[in-house]
Amino acid sequence: MNILHEFEFFKPKSKKEALELVKSQGSKAKVLAGGTDLIIQMKEKMIKPDAIIDISDLEELKGIKCKEGKGAEILSCTKLADIEFNADLQKKYPALTHAVGQLGSNQVRVMGTMGGNCCHSSPAAETPAPLSALGAKVVIESVDGEREMTIEDFIQGNRRNDLKEGEILTKFILPEPVKNSACRYGHIGLRNAMEIDCANMAVNIELGEDKESIKSVKLVMGSVAIRPLVSQAVPALLVGKKLTEELVIKAGEAAQSEAKPISDVRASAEYRKEVIGALARRLVKEAYEAAKEA
Ligand SMILES: Cc1cc2nc3c(=O)[nH]c(=O)nc-3n(C[C@H](O)[C@H](O)[C@H](O)COP(=O)(O)OP(=O)(O)OC[C@H]3O[C@@H](n4cnc5c(N)ncnc54)[C@H](O)[C@@H]3O)c2cc1C
Repeated sequence: MNILHEFEFFKPKSKKEALELVKSQGSKAKVLAGGTDLIIQMKEKMIKPDAIIDISDLEELKGIKCKEGKGAEILSCTKLADIEFNADLQKKYPALTHAVGQLGSNQVRVMGTMGGNCCHSSPAAETPAPLSALGAKVVIESVDGEREMTIEDFIQGNRRNDLKEGEILTKFILPEPVKNSACRYGHIGLRNAMEIDCANMAVNIELGEDKESIKSVKLVMGSVAIRPLVSQAVPALLVGKKLTEELVIKAGEAAQSEAKPISDVRASAEYRKEVIGALARRLVKEAYEAAKEA
């Protein structure tokens, strides 16, 4: 597992310098944030970049702004551990901080970033489902300016996303959670830590003024399609209704009907479908109960 190939190493001192380097080096370069995915890919010779642009220490790309009534901004190179333990995020977005806390191990979370997790764009990644359920957007920058899009538009497939040559992901924008709403995250893996999920899911439920009928629901599945899968069937089933045990069971079946898992070393497609049903039943119930208390 040695890194056999040689590469140029750049450590820009500012975001501006990083963007210029990303532009001038083009497709032969890779950006390094925490390196917890990139270095493994290099060691396993899956990729052989000619240049590495290390943005891990850029203070301009680190930080969390969480303001009362105004959502939150998380800069892309903020370490996962800093997100996991941020008290404001824990209060406002418990599904996200819980998901981040399930990623890898302490060591991985101290090095890795949410920008890296989303830019790696693995179908089994921990953070895209909760980010999507919460309505998060990503900000992408180049020397020519910036653009933003939803996380589900950004991630386009297995290790494919909408980053163009010369761009880096600089920021996540999370909207303020709406009144009477709650989001919950769950995952199943082969063990409790240091595992890649067999399947994961986030469910965000908003209740009406009566605090019983469901006004909106966003259920997002991970690791059962080539990109985060936003359910159409579950909102069609639940919106306008009060949750009952029968509807909980039907929600599980609806999510299962949409999942398109594959069989691989971590789980069979059949097992993943079972997991999706169980996660949907549990998380719909949990998010609904939490929304009543919100
Ligand atoms: C032991 C171990 C366990 C793990 N467990 C999990 C797990 O349970 N769940 C999970 O989801 N992941 C897991 N991972 C994968 C990894 O830790 C995460 O995906 C992590 O969030 C990657 O972040 P990073 O900063 O290290 O990314 P890097 O490795 O630095 O980068 C990953 C990719 O994204 C690109 N990139 C990074 N940041 C940017 C940016 N700002 N703009 C543009 N491109 C960028 C890089 O060029 C590279 O292609 C695990 C890894 C290890 C080693």
